[in-house]
Amino acid sequence: MLFDTHAHYDDNRFDSDRDELLSSMPANNVGLILNPAVDLESSRTVVSYAQKYPFLYAAVGIHPEDWNKNWKNDLLVIKELAQNEHKVRAIGEIGLDYYWEKDPEGRAVQQEVFRAQMALAEELLLPVIVHDRDAHADCLTITKEFSHVRGVYHCFAGSVEMARELLELGYYLSFTGVITFKNAKRALDVIREAPLERLMVETDAPYMAPEPYRGRRNSSLYVYRMAEAIAEVKGVAVSEVERITTENGKRLFQIA
Ligand SMILES: [Zn+2]
Repeated sequence: MLFDTHAHYDDNRFDSDRDELLSSMPANNVGLILNPAVDLESSRTVVSYAQKYPFLYAAVGIHPEDWNKNWKNDLLVIKELAQNEHKVRAIGEIGLDYYWEKDPEGRAVQQEVFRAQMALAEELLLPVIVHDRDAHADCLTITKEFSHVRGVYHCFAGSVEMARELLELGYYLSFTGVITFKNAKRALDVIREAPLERLMVETDAPYMAPEPYRGRRNSSLYVYRMAEAIAEVKGVAVSEVERITTENGKRLFQIA
């Protein structure tokens, strides 16, 4: 059974067949899904999915590209959701995105929003799901400021050295379809170096469809491709990667 630890079913690309698709997952060997939110509205939506589907869990939070000027108030409501809904298992996705945000003032706000949510995770004893795009140094700095917080760097794109530091801090690393692309060398080096006990698989659906589905709408049905890619690098059976990455996700998100 596979655990897709990062998929966005609140995306409107699933509007036409969301229920049909999600309902088909257990029969297709996808036994668990974690759906992270990107803002307050999305946090409410993913909580409603978690209430509906027994195999789906939620993370609530504000994505670095999705803060608005009321973010502090939004965070108060997000905190309530996290406290009152037992299927909220993480704060996410949170972090920094310097690829889309070039303006120093915008980046400073992203850092403030990230820190506030790391503090929230620390207070609520929840793990975090970190989005780090072209912001490796600042993400690592802020991560280190919260030494009691654990979590996962999703779609990990940092160096082997950064991976070592995160593993030392107790973090997990998770990988998307990027590792099935031809130019994936850096991520594959990280996978080779990291213990299997600290890796997770994810689709980041509807984005990032793995080969041979690249360019299509992604869904958790394709998460097996990431397990295959990791198995190849590690030289172990796919079933072993499947079992261990699922255990890792259950451990981090406290799913029995
Ligand atoms: Zn995401």
